[in-house]
Amino acid sequence: MSSGQHTLIFDNGVTDIADLVIGADGARSCIRSLVSSAMPQYCGVTIVEIQFIFVDDRHPEIAKLVGRGTIFALSDNKGLIGQRNGQNQIRVYITLRAPENWIVESGIAFDQPEQARKDLLRLFADWDNSLLNFIHFCDANFIPRPLYTLPTNHRWETHPGVILLGDAAHLMSPFAGEGVNLAMLDATELALAITNADDLKQAIHNYEQKIFPRAAKAAEESSSNLDLFISTGNAGKIAAEFFKKLMESGPPKDTQI
Ligand SMILES: Cc1cc2nc3c(=O)[nH]c(=O)nc-3n(C[C@H](O)[C@H](O)[C@H](O)COP(=O)(O)OP(=O)(O)OC[C@H]3O[C@@H](n4cnc5c(N)ncnc54)[C@H](O)[C@@H]3O)c2cc1C
Repeated sequence: MSSGQHTLIFDNGVTDIADLVIGADGARSCIRSLVSSAMPQYCGVTIVEIQFIFVDDRHPEIAKLVGRGTIFALSDNKGLIGQRNGQNQIRVYITLRAPENWIVESGIAFDQPEQARKDLLRLFADWDNSLLNFIHFCDANFIPRPLYTLPTNHRWETHPGVILLGDAAHLMSPFAGEGVNLAMLDATELALAITNADDLKQAIHNYEQKIFPRAAKAAEESSSNLDLFISTGNAGKIAAEFFKKLMESGPPKDTQI
């Protein structure tokens, strides 16, 4: 509508008129196309997500290996990346460089967990047994996810009445570990922009100017980490040095809002 308002038409037939449509609808955002023609592109890496629930009691050896943070085991364009989550769970990402349609091409039947387990173990046949235990003993649920990204410097012209937030605005691979942080910062930034500006158009513009550079920086970092970590080079050593530097530098200083 010329006022910048938008009419929303929901599947259940309900319609509404909104002053501001916030596209916080994730990687496959349908709101994104209102402001940008960018489409997510496959980044060359697919992960298979596995997990351990009640890990401390059921798999103390896995709990000990991952500890309270994250473990990265990287080599030969592959990785086993374990992450401590809340509620006594550990999630592991079986990571590999693969064609976009690898999920089908590989012939792995991800809906038949015991067969998938065997096939995935074959891909990591020469890896240490302590790491293969992730695949041997994980819960019987294998979720393959090809990773998609938007251009690292994704931005758009201010569009009255519509904004993007989180992955809808800046989808990146998880190798900077920033996606959730950025989405929460975006939301806070937007609330402040609306509160502080005289009108909605100015608020949208101010919000976008804040989030664009921050997201671009994280997206660059995520892209370069992916190239370093999932590589044929000395990925393990590079990752170790990277995390050492990260720990030494302390918390980031540019997240003040
Ligand atoms: C394998 C993997 C590991 C990750 N690890 C980390 C990590 O360690 N740390 C980190 O910070 N980030 C990580 N991320 C990234 C993080 O998950 C995302 O950046 C974050 O979830 C983005 O939040 P969001 O709210 O923008 O999108 P989402 O979490 O995708 O939420 C969007 C929501 O919108 C809903 N939705 C979509 N379309 C519609 C519609 N038409 N109508 C109604 N609802 C709709 C969806 O159902 C969903 O609930 C990881 C991502 C992946 C894939």
